[in-house]
Amino acid sequence: MASVDLEKPFDYVVVGGGTAGLVIANRLSEDSDVRVLVIEAGADRSTDPLVLCPGLVAGLYGKDEYDWNFMSTPQPTLNNRIINQARGKMLGGSSALNFLMLLYPSKGNIDAWASLGNEGWDFDSLAPYLRKFATVHTPPQSSKDLCGLTYHNEDLAKGDGPIHVTFSEGYNVTNQAWLKTFAGQGLEVTTDPRDGRALGAFQNQASIDPVTHTRSFAASGYYSPEVAKRSNLVVLTETLVSKVILDTTGDEPVATGVEIVTKDGEKKQISANLEVILSAGTLQSPQILELSGIGSKNILEKHNIPVIVENPSVGEYVQDHPIVCQSFEVADTTPSGDVLRDPNVLNALVGMYQASGAGPLGQSTISVAYSPLVDGSGIVSAEAKKELLASHEQTLTTPDAQAIRKLVESSDEATFQFLLFPTQISIPATPKSMAEYILPVLPENYITVMTILNHPFSRGSVHISSPDVRAAPVWDPKYNSNPLDMELLARGVEFVERLVDPSTPFGKLLKDGGKRQPEGLVATDLEKAKEIVRQRQISVFHVSGSCAMKPKGQGGVVDARLRVYGTKRLRVVDASVFPLEPVGNIQSVVYAVAEKAADLIKEDRKGL
Ligand SMILES: Cc1cc2nc3c(=O)[nH]c(=O)nc-3n(C[C@H](O)[C@H](O)[C@H](O)COP(=O)(O)OP(=O)(O)OC[C@H]3O[C@@H](n4cnc5c(N)ncnc54)[C@H](O)[C@@H]3O)c2cc1C
Repeated sequence: MASVDLEKPFDYVVVGGGTAGLVIANRLSEDSDVRVLVIEAGADRSTDPLVLCPGLVAGLYGKDEYDWNFMSTPQPTLNNRIINQARGKMLGGSSALNFLMLLYPSKGNIDAWASLGNEGWDFDSLAPYLRKFATVHTPPQSSKDLCGLTYHNEDLAKGDGPIHVTFSEGYNVTNQAWLKTFAGQGLEVTTDPRDGRALGAFQNQASIDPVTHTRSFAASGYYSPEVAKRSNLVVLTETLVSKVILDTTGDEPVATGVEIVTKDGEKKQISANLEVILSAGTLQSPQILELSGIGSKNILEKHNIPVIVENPSVGEYVQDHPIVCQSFEVADTTPSGDVLRDPNVLNALVGMYQASGAGPLGQSTISVAYSPLVDGSGIVSAEAKKELLASHEQTLTTPDAQAIRKLVESSDEATFQFLLFPTQISIPATPKSMAEYILPVLPENYITVMTILNHPFSRGSVHISSPDVRAAPVWDPKYNSNPLDMELLARGVEFVERLVDPSTPFGKLLKDGGKRQPEGLVATDLEKAKEIVRQRQISVFHVSGSCAMKPKGQGGVVDARLRVYGTKRLRVVDASVFPLEPVGNIQSVVYAVAEKAADLIKEDRKGL
């Protein structure tokens, strides 16, 4: 990169060139009158084959040049296991190492954001931004032939946004059987999920460019070579922001710039004339706030950081989708990604991909299903649901919990997301990285059914462990600390037995008398299902909510324009502002929230 004059003030300084940060930088720098700086801790790896090739993603996890590789504290409800949380450390952030699944949130889910006191954040207001970030491609005929896709509405706007959203050509009998098996349970999607209503199994899309078969992510889409040419946009990589500089001489602290630590350990200050925007992600935006003196008095004083704005909600209310992974050995003729353990197979597929982009390495073949509350008997009745929730009444007093209760009670909203994952999953008690979850270590071939709780009631935290930005914050997700989450998850795990029953199209693809993981554990009752959760729950990597958009004094860190309470000219824009975890995989919502935030910032500039 050409040398940049960092002495000259920028208008906007964006901290973190990740998923949300690059959206903000792109949209603000559309106006050639403003100078925008992005500061990213990692490097620009947007031409790296491991990043670009969807099927090689496992090669990124745990490596310092790509992954922050956070670990949780031991989780008491999960046999004291430690849970890994991969996070992208490069331009594009976590969109550069995610699993590329592209799903859309539900209407009720986003309407609940507005109901928590966030004006302008209902589904209909977010919907244009859920279109704006994407270009949705027509499904290839082969995927229609195999998966039907009758719910996919070609009349809905396809959009012309920077992120490519595609169906794959590589679906196989497992995807087809998955869809049929859920249909047999009365759970077949009939509406396009992009409209905010979806219950049942469907073949989801992925963020993959259909022409190049490469990952479509924030760096390729929002910081394309064209955008990088803008003279008013500067991207500084391999540089850490250690704090926001706040001018405390007026009535409210004003963000005037940031302090950085360069690759060589040198500290510098950079000025922002208009705003500082934190987009460092759910585990690191609160870290930077705390290092800047914004947070809980107790925590800041423990680390000798002067308190500038006291707000005990910073770093609290962290939400994450819990996911329970049960692997089932497949019949000899059933496809499984575990065959990639054979270097000859892997090399042949890499060769095929390099030659023309063809083959499974350029595709995502995960399938999904959304369901209301289900258990070993199928869909749970409205009365039984009410009874279960009422028995946990005393834990459902907060506005968050009441909003979630409404979603679980609704017959239109999905309590669970189930995933069909094409390989085995292993769960060590102390994983070294995400790679250990997904690389095949068992000799048999498996596929995995995953049970995800869409709206967890439990809330975790993330706080600084040191005044040094280089020290990883302490992340305690407090999974199932609300016991209702365990009750719900266990019911979802019971339902899995209905899917893998040998009588179903899906069950027929599994090996007769084959192994399962956890070994020998069948969810024949709720207690056994809970044991499966304890042994097999990890994270879906959807941490959110640590700088929540909510009213002040009710857990809020930012207001409905994403401005940090008690400050001026400081915002947070990333998954940390989500007041409630969205249904399904969350990258679409991160992109949409950042698109909307860019418009809010532009509007406010006119009023500055
Ligand atoms: C392994 C994995 C799989 C996933 N799979 C899917 C999926 O299939 N589908 C889906 O929808 N979602 C998926 N997700 C979730 C989704 O990718 C994330 O929720 C989303 O990308 C988060 O965006 P963000 O902007 O909040 O943070 P990020 O994209 O993580 O951006 C934060 C950026 O800030 C930088 N940064 C942090 N601290 C500093 C600092 N002090 N100074 C400078 N820079 C800093 C980081 O390096 C990073 O680039 C997955 C996530 C992971 C980790």
